[in-house]
Amino acid sequence: MIPLEPEAVYVLNRLKENGYEAYVVGGYVRDQLRGQPTNDIDIATSALPEQTMALFERTVPTGLQHGTVMVLYGGKSYEVTTFRTESDYENYRRPQEVTFVQNLEQDLQRRDFTINAMAMDGTGSVIDPFGGLEDLQNGLIRCVGDARERFREDALRMVRCVRFAANYRFRIESSTWESLIANRDLLQHIAMERIRAEWDKMMEGSDPYRGLVLLVNSGLLHFLKRKPDWPVIRWTAEEELPAELSLLNLLDRPLLRWAWLLRSMELSAEAARQGLSMLTFSRLAIDKVIKLIEMDGHLIAKSADPGQEELEQVWKEAVLRYGADAAAEWLALADAAAAGRLRNPPLAIGPAWSSVPADEGRRWLKEMPVTGIRELAVSGSDLLTLTSRQGGPWLGRVMDRLMLEVALGRCANRKEDLLDKAKYYLANE
Ligand code: ATP
Ligand code: MG
Repeated sequence: MIPLEPEAVYVLNRLKENGYEAYVVGGYVRDQLRGQPTNDIDIATSALPEQTMALFERTVPTGLQHGTVMVLYGGKSYEVTTFRTESDYENYRRPQEVTFVQNLEQDLQRRDFTINAMAMDGTGSVIDPFGGLEDLQNGLIRCVGDARERFREDALRMVRCVRFAANYRFRIESSTWESLIANRDLLQHIAMERIRAEWDKMMEGSDPYRGLVLLVNSGLLHFLKRKPDWPVIRWTAEEELPAELSLLNLLDRPLLRWAWLLRSMELSAEAARQGLSMLTFSRLAIDKVIKLIEMDGHLIAKSADPGQEELEQVWKEAVLRYGADAAAEWLALADAAAAGRLRNPPLAIGPAWSSVPADEGRRWLKEMPVTGIRELAVSGSDLLTLTSRQGGPWLGRVMDRLMLEVALGRCANRKEDLLDKAKYYLANE
């Protein structure tokens, strides 16, 4: 018996009282049985979209061509979808058109994996025609029906298979795995956005390293490449993965994990940017990851064999240049690198994320009175007033110098002191 919030029970009952069948399906049932919290409750019903809309006061026609209506009730929202099949798969993709059907089992049959093909009614009892519960208990990802066919219908399912196996630490049932390998080249037909959405979920999950191993071992990665000049992960077997990659799971955010992965591939910032944009990341997300890679490259270049004091200056300059947020993220990456070196036996780790000792970097960051221009006690316009000069590159130069002086503790962050310094610089430029 699975618990269900009263608002969802109301929606199921309202449909039932009007002569329709209605069940909670898919992810919610699976996650409840795994003992994991779920946000979304999806409902499948024999009612057609218009019939569903007629029964509830507040609905939004979110995907009528797929039979989906959003029902809003009691501050909650539910996707209510008419029982359907997807018959005409074209080009190894799910179809635009669907066929509505009258029974639940047909609807469950079109779903990808047994663990995703369970339903429950309003009383919490589970309908499980394909042995999903057993697979869940045994930790197995298995296609509903013939795996070869299911991957040919929609090749994205191969990435979903890897994603679920990685996130749940499940095994992939053998005929499912064999079919995945046999069909891996079909991944070329799938839109990168859909692939990335699954990959993102993997990078947010509990074992992205395992996901990567599965992508490499299956050969799926190779079929991400769409243009000859796109960078692609060249590893073809688990043994080729650099040891440091296994530390991916130590990092707690996808942003850090992407940066770690790209550095482990020894990609330049430019190639990494290209890789991320090929995966259709947003500009903002790309910039954040690339900033870390650039900061790391900068630190490596500047910190080649300095004395202690110099290293402090190199670090503080980098903090000012890339910002305190990036610096904190860099430190998290440095922690992972340090943890790898402390392993027994120590992991061989490349030069990335280790040019500055994390503990010292953290201390130096904390003691910086300013990490950004807004925290400085003088502004650009103070300097313009002081000098009666026109703005120009000199202004940025002076501001940067002042920030560094304050950051290094050589000058107090006080307006008079800073204006004196600025006067001195300008007189001696
Ligand atoms: P998540 O935890 O990421 O939400 P989910 O299983 O709910 O996982 P969704 O993409 O939200 O994944 O899909 C909801 C349900 O729809 C799935 O549980 C599955 O039954 C079905 N489904 C989703 N994508 C496919 C697909 N490509 N092929 C077949 N069935 C699918
Ligand atoms: Mg879902």
